[in-house]
Amino acid sequence: MSTRYIFVTGGVVSSIGKGISVASIGRILKSHGISVSVMKLDPYLNVDPGTMSPYQHGEVFVTKDGSETDLDLGHYERFIDIELTGSSNITAGQIYSLVIAKERRGDYLGGTIQTVPHVTDEIKEHIFNLASESGAEVVVVEVGGTVGDIEGLPFLEAIRQIRKDAGRDNVYYIHVTLLPNMVTTGELKTKPTQHSVKELRSIGIQPDAIIARSDFPVSDAIKDKISLFCDVSRDAVFALPTLDNVYEVPLALEDAGLGSILLRSLNLDRKRNDMSNWRILVDRINLEREKIPIAVVGKYAELPDSYISVKEALSHAALAHDKDIEISWIQSEDIERYGTEDLLAFAKGIVVPGGFGPRGIDGMIQAVKYARENLVPYFGLCLGMQMMVVEYTRSLLGYSDANSTEFDPDTKHPVIDLMPGQLQVKQMGGTMRLGIYKCQLVPNTRAARAYGRSEIEERHRHRYEFNSTYRSLLEEVGLIASGLSPDGRLVEISEVENHPFMLGTQFHPEFLSRPQRPHPLFRDFLEATQETIRKGDQRPLPLIRR
Ligand code: GLN
Repeated sequence: MSTRYIFVTGGVVSSIGKGISVASIGRILKSHGISVSVMKLDPYLNVDPGTMSPYQHGEVFVTKDGSETDLDLGHYERFIDIELTGSSNITAGQIYSLVIAKERRGDYLGGTIQTVPHVTDEIKEHIFNLASESGAEVVVVEVGGTVGDIEGLPFLEAIRQIRKDAGRDNVYYIHVTLLPNMVTTGELKTKPTQHSVKELRSIGIQPDAIIARSDFPVSDAIKDKISLFCDVSRDAVFALPTLDNVYEVPLALEDAGLGSILLRSLNLDRKRNDMSNWRILVDRINLEREKIPIAVVGKYAELPDSYISVKEALSHAALAHDKDIEISWIQSEDIERYGTEDLLAFAKGIVVPGGFGPRGIDGMIQAVKYARENLVPYFGLCLGMQMMVVEYTRSLLGYSDANSTEFDPDTKHPVIDLMPGQLQVKQMGGTMRLGIYKCQLVPNTRAARAYGRSEIEERHRHRYEFNSTYRSLLEEVGLIASGLSPDGRLVEISEVENHPFMLGTQFHPEFLSRPQRPHPLFRDFLEATQETIRKGDQRPLPLIRR
């Protein structure tokens, strides 16, 4: 059977939730028993987002094969419950590098290299490769950016051509737009959508469906208008109002008939129609639940998109306890300015997520110390684990200058040090320890109890590691290595004895959490916060300084 392709483009403005729409389409198809794979085309010139600042790009999502990818892949994995690889995210930077490398090798046999056909062929080849690699019945492809962007043109041209290559009946185009609201008249305006579709048509793509995002309910009259002016059949105009939780989007689109239209248009047989589990999930999320106050202390805390998988993993774990979370995003530099008492006293659990570079490091170390001394559950993710080790060494071994060589290359006590393989690395892009690695759990530790297994696999992204020279010294004072690489050389998990929950992972467990399958460490971290709440809090709750 030939592969079907659904291409999703965006218009009017960026950040309208195209990624969530694509993830939702994937979820709907999967619930109908159709196998899906997903892909994000990013028209920027970076080879991957790994070298970009979180301010530019938000979180870098790491796939199992160690590719540093767009955060939308996180949505796809969580919604569809699949595991993707680097093949699901291509950028203009990758495409141009490949084309130029082929030209240098002489692969084009003296030809003139042009955007069409050489760049477009390279893009199409990647899309077709994912189709054959995954064997999926449907490949859903999101084109990043907004129609009208100069750098997006080769990608749009490529997906236009695929209609001919793959056959008209096997290709479906969806355009996601925004209906702005005029405050003065209280009207939703369709003109930007009309213009965006006009722009798309000028490239040769007529959308088959429109998903119109809006912060307000969309009347039938507005949908009629979009249908008429954009030449899209009335039942293929979908209004998607802003919803309280993103996991509701698949239901909203399915209930509006998107699943049926896709199956009909792409001539696919529905194998089942079962969104009932998803509906149960959404109903549970929407129930009023007691909120656990959690502090996430990081360098990019003013930009929660940088930690989107951490936020999701905490929410999934809270749901498993029939609780909710209330995250306060705390800039670690603010802790340096205002101290821990004011900023952290409210928290029933503290998370220090991953990060790079020296800014705000002292604030993170102060947060660790606060959690350790006040027995507040603490969960350190990658950098958060490294800072836990630094603080513990300083306080319990008395090595006051202990540090990671990332922040103090001359420290006398490099408890966190560059991994041997990293010493010669000069290139920045794609050179960290990346992707899935096996880890063996030490029996009778908190980590082993959480997973209920002796061996796990988790995703990594780091250059520095626990310096094993200090392992036995630290174990003597209660910092236990509870997860090790199979050769026993690398400490992947460390945990503090005699503390309600103080554990750090060198890997990023947040990438494996799913709404219906919370990660065991996040689950147990939140279990510990509740234990603390149940025992009663003797500490006063000072106001959080804003
Ligand atoms: N900067 C640290 C390292 O490279 C931590 C990385 C991370 O938190 N992902 O090891």
